[in-house]
Amino acid sequence: MAPKISFDLKATDGKARTGVINTPRGEIRTPAFMPVGTAATVKAMMPESVRATGADILLGNTYHLMLRPTAERIDRLGGLHKFMNWDRPILTDSGGFQVMSLAGLRKLTEKGVTFKSHVDGSKHELTPERSMEIQKLLGSDIVMCFDECPALPADRDRIAESMRLSMRWAERSREAFGDRPGHALFGIMQGGLEQDLREESAEALTKIGFEGYAVGGLAVGEGQEAMFDCLDYAPGFLPEDKPRYLMGVGKPDDIVGAVARGIDMMDCVLPSRSGRTGQAFTRYGVVNIKNARHQDDPRPLDENCTCPACSNYSRAYLHHVFRSNEMISGMLLTWHNLHYFQEIMGGMREAIAAGTFEAWQKDFHDTRAQGDIERL
Ligand SMILES: [Zn+2]
Repeated sequence: MAPKISFDLKATDGKARTGVINTPRGEIRTPAFMPVGTAATVKAMMPESVRATGADILLGNTYHLMLRPTAERIDRLGGLHKFMNWDRPILTDSGGFQVMSLAGLRKLTEKGVTFKSHVDGSKHELTPERSMEIQKLLGSDIVMCFDECPALPADRDRIAESMRLSMRWAERSREAFGDRPGHALFGIMQGGLEQDLREESAEALTKIGFEGYAVGGLAVGEGQEAMFDCLDYAPGFLPEDKPRYLMGVGKPDDIVGAVARGIDMMDCVLPSRSGRTGQAFTRYGVVNIKNARHQDDPRPLDENCTCPACSNYSRAYLHHVFRSNEMISGMLLTWHNLHYFQEIMGGMREAIAAGTFEAWQKDFHDTRAQGDIERL
């Protein structure tokens, strides 16, 4: 096994980058999209199907797994990879963000956060040290620092105070993580939409030193324009020779815009969640399969897509199984959506390597602007 996780930057085109993160569990081609496996499963997908869509890495959620089935139980059962039957890289978040968004009755101190489980109301504590311990028990390949992230909009003092707390926690996370060859720890930049706070955060993280850096605190309600404004400068504050991860993003056009601004990795529940609510992402934009216009339509969702949903089924069938609440509806649409997201990533990787990313982006936006195929 290779002793270290390393990043090879292969090519750049404008600010966009393509490369490979080498891990003992396999290569992660960047730009990379990570499907979200919240509760040790990417909902409605078998792990081999997730791999077949082209995913090199999955994301697991510390908050969910620590509450159920617990990190200690997963450890006893051989770790998260074995438990969920996924032998390739896994990145776990620190739990901080989901404590904020899901848990009731939180109490935040310098030490960490105490909160009540949304599952059964039981009381828990998360600190940088405990988050590192949990992510180690899970066996995560890429571990995220424990951080705090205020919802936007928030006033500048609140953002600054929160960012500085996160930087102190980043130092404690680094210390608690220790020396673990073959595993990486990523720092998380905060600072909201304030350029100088982003810079201060990046400097603090770089001084501590991490194997990769995330841009945190975006995609929390600020809107695409504000997010892109921030991404116009934020990735530039981070070391060029380390992967940059934008957390919780996003829609296809968010992803493309983020990569154009120098982001290497992303994750989002959108393709899987939308798949379960009858929404398909295609080259021509979003298709709502529940719409009655599809009920007699024998054509596939996207005639050029090679996923099982598009290769073997009609829009009429996809409409019918969605309306009938059949499980295969979520399975097929999730597969299609994940396939499409990975196709975008592959297209961007090729275009960046070839130096044609600008033309690729124009084609991406022009095709989307055409809208879905005409109804029959
Ligand atoms: Zn498809």
